[in-house]
Amino acid sequence: RAAEPKGPQKVPGIDRILAIASGKGGVGKSTVSANLAVALAQQGRRVGLLDADVYGPSQPRMLGVSGRPASPDGKTILPMRNHGVTMMSIGLMTNDDQAVVWRGPMLMGALQQMLTQVQWGALDVLIVDLPPGTGDVQMTLSQKAQVDGAIIVSTPQDVALLDARKGIDMFQQLKVPLVGMIENMSTHICSACGHEEHVFGHGGVAAEAAKLGVPLLAEIPLDLQIRLAADGGAPIAISQPDSAQAQAFHDIARAL
Ligand code: ADP
Repeated sequence: RAAEPKGPQKVPGIDRILAIASGKGGVGKSTVSANLAVALAQQGRRVGLLDADVYGPSQPRMLGVSGRPASPDGKTILPMRNHGVTMMSIGLMTNDDQAVVWRGPMLMGALQQMLTQVQWGALDVLIVDLPPGTGDVQMTLSQKAQVDGAIIVSTPQDVALLDARKGIDMFQQLKVPLVGMIENMSTHICSACGHEEHVFGHGGVAAEAAKLGVPLLAEIPLDLQIRLAADGGAPIAISQPDSAQAQAFHDIARAL
């Protein structure tokens, strides 16, 4: 009898898995994931997006996808597709108003299912939008699948940074390489008068990245267009590809 495989496994057909993580919720992890996915797709990369944010799956809304994924053979699941991105979300497996109060083993089962039973096809990159924090989903993903890199999203605020540091520590323990950090909601430029304001402070993530010796991939402003595009189902990187805000995402995607 063949021995059970030990340690993280490569998912067949998927070249690279990149996890997008944050210490706390609401810092823009899903916005960054969606924009990176569409930017990668626009650059001709075969890209998948797995929305594993069990507590607040927002990718169906951000990528403008709805409905239940089909399972013609009753065993595998057909992913959804929009803006050139192949996607699957835990939000498409539960009812809209159903609170996700799953225990660890159920979460692990759902994650495993999304990784191995979804017909991802051949992908250059699979982006995984993780839940915030350092919980079961992060551990299971990195223990079951070979995660090739993690990107940490944080606002410059002290509290968010403190939590981000815990996330970095977790990935280091799990031996997942850190691709870099992204400062989101970095500055706010008033759309009426152009005045620049540091709502959550500024430069905190750059300082942290320098201290940890991790690249700072971008400083994304707090911007109304970014929010409207994400809520409207067409992330700014695809709906306004020539805008300065979109360029930041395209620059990161090119370097990935
Ligand atoms: P998380 O995944 O970390 O919980 P989200 O990506 O869902 O965070 O973002 C939380 C809210 O903030 C969303 O409404 C999103 O549209 C908005 N948002 C995220 N990043 C920005 C930004 N740079 N500028 C404006 N709004 C943003």
